[in-house]
Amino acid sequence: MAEPEAFEVYAIRYATVQRTAGENFIGVSDPHEAATDMDYYVWLARNADHSFVIDTGFNEAAARRRKRTFLRSPVEGLAQLGIEAGKVEGVIVTHLHYDHIGNFDLFPKARFHLQDLEMMYATGRHMANRFFAGAYEADEVAEMVRNVYAGRVVFHDGDTELAPGLSLHLVGGHTMGLQVVRLWTRAGWLVLASDASHYADNMNKGLPFPIVHDVGEMIDGWRRMRELVDDERHIIPGHDPIVMEQYPAPDPSLEGIVVRLDTLPENY
Ligand SMILES: [Zn+2]
Repeated sequence: MAEPEAFEVYAIRYATVQRTAGENFIGVSDPHEAATDMDYYVWLARNADHSFVIDTGFNEAAARRRKRTFLRSPVEGLAQLGIEAGKVEGVIVTHLHYDHIGNFDLFPKARFHLQDLEMMYATGRHMANRFFAGAYEADEVAEMVRNVYAGRVVFHDGDTELAPGLSLHLVGGHTMGLQVVRLWTRAGWLVLASDASHYADNMNKGLPFPIVHDVGEMIDGWRRMRELVDDERHIIPGHDPIVMEQYPAPDPSLEGIVVRLDTLPENY
């Protein structure tokens, strides 16, 4: 069988916030434990035939509301990679939390790839409970429901191949319908974990992130992601500042803004 065309994969950092270790790892509550910043990313995967934006981030107003440090609009970062948000046709939504879908109004031509379970979760009984609802914005979820009626949401029920060398995998855990993205690249198979592992240490030290729907599923998700790659270093955590240190900027002008992920990380 012919190998699929390799994808170039980029992470664009658009916001950051300081967190204590206890906010990032269940079971670590020592206030002396070093704080770990949380970075916010959107991702781009493209090859000669296909281009997908993975998640759309939040905007400046949301950053103010939630007291995050906004660095740049995710859309500006995409523009620096030659991608015009207004023309993007495919957006993969790993899950519907505010920091993953906040700018979808800036993608008027896009269709959104989403798991059945994620929409069910975000519009269902668990949202009556603040613990589960806290990272969702009701208005954004409602807007995504409008997109359903407009024919702009492509639902997936479990694992699916979107294009040769690009597949979506339902892992749940963090939210009921969280999906991760597997990509064929020049460096081999790569998985964008999104919030299946916020930090590399969540999965590497076996410490679940405290915003969680189902801890058992979250832990199974780590095993699932390991099955999807040949080398565990190609599992990219969703919010970890080390991503910016371990991977190179694709161009000196993008230093500190964009890194290219389809390469082996440094200093691992
Ligand atoms: Zn999340």
